[in-house]
Amino acid sequence: MTFEALVHASEVITGRGVRLKDGKRITDEDLGRIPDGAIVYSRHSVAGQSVPKKVEWVGPTEELPKKWSEVPKTDLKRKRAIVPGLIDCHTHLVFAGDRSAEFAARCGGASYEEIAQKGGGILTTVKATRAASEARLIRLASARLREVYRRGVRTVELKTGYGLTAESEIKTLRVIQALRRKFPKMTLKATYLGAHAVPSGVDRSEYIRKIVEETLPAIGRQNLADTCDVFVDEGYFTRDEGRAILLAAQRHGLPAKIHADEMTNTEAATLAVELGALSADHLLKISDSGIQSLSRSSTVAVLLPGTAFYLKAHQAPARKLLDAGVRVALATDFNPGTFMCSSLPVVMTLAALYLGMTCPEIFAAVTYNGAKALGLEAHKGTLEPGSDADFWVLPFRKFEESYYRFAW
Ligand SMILES: [Zn+2]
Repeated sequence: MTFEALVHASEVITGRGVRLKDGKRITDEDLGRIPDGAIVYSRHSVAGQSVPKKVEWVGPTEELPKKWSEVPKTDLKRKRAIVPGLIDCHTHLVFAGDRSAEFAARCGGASYEEIAQKGGGILTTVKATRAASEARLIRLASARLREVYRRGVRTVELKTGYGLTAESEIKTLRVIQALRRKFPKMTLKATYLGAHAVPSGVDRSEYIRKIVEETLPAIGRQNLADTCDVFVDEGYFTRDEGRAILLAAQRHGLPAKIHADEMTNTEAATLAVELGALSADHLLKISDSGIQSLSRSSTVAVLLPGTAFYLKAHQAPARKLLDAGVRVALATDFNPGTFMCSSLPVVMTLAALYLGMTCPEIFAAVTYNGAKALGLEAHKGTLEPGSDADFWVLPFRKFEESYYRFAW
């Protein structure tokens, strides 16, 4: 194990107060901004690569303890800030195929539902992803992950859901395992989303029975996924179907997540709370009682303003959620149909412009609260002695610049 230090950062934001308040009602004082800051961290070797391990010390450069005065230092000359590595807690990053024609059709006035009825939408990607080899999927996803890393993200959740057969869903999970070995500097979490849509030509109840009785036990046995997600919405899966699938997932050690109340309100957010889910995601149509139940729970509301922007839909009621004391995370929802963009900073800009979120709220949403939506908050999301050293050295002086500058 070796130790290193970064000194004279224009600012270090530790996020310590965000942790103390467990991600709720975050204001500027909670960020723990340290002007002219420094950080000391350990390194270790993973798969032949040297990667940062744990944070040892954080504070003002001039207070660097004697104990660390001899470690190799990099001087950031007050030109670059350091924040916890960003967390993108909702992506569909592993896919093949091209849906640019569908985008053109939507711009010409066709609705997402009309496109789906004509056999487009998710099922187009399903066809291409099923046909792609593991090696090709790894290649495509690797190029995307390199871009994601460049923009400060160190932890990414990746969902399946473009296979929709046990075999091709498990293929996608194996691709995620391979990506994990290829990117030791990142933390990749795998979510099984077999209940993304019912594949065409398949009996609905038989499809659900197979997920519950065959696919989930196989995934659990091989330890291939970290969490399980269901698309609960009109035309997708009902609350009762979602409950049955997610209870089965929990029996196999997979915590729940839900695509909830996106196109219609089906009180899916309340179901997420009932199941003790890690997160309820989208929430464009969440009801007041859904907001109330989230505010009294440990379930994170994951907002995806890029998707609503791309679909020209009404945004989620972010201010109502935040003001009710709900814990809010932001994520890209990067996917080929409804947000073909892997940039979390772009999503942060959209959150500032269209969700009315403040800088401290945005910071918490892409750090600690993102970690909480993945069950990783014990070690990630803040920079404190003992936490994982997956920080981001910004190419900017201040955190705000990462989303004030648009689409860098
Ligand atoms: Zn999604």
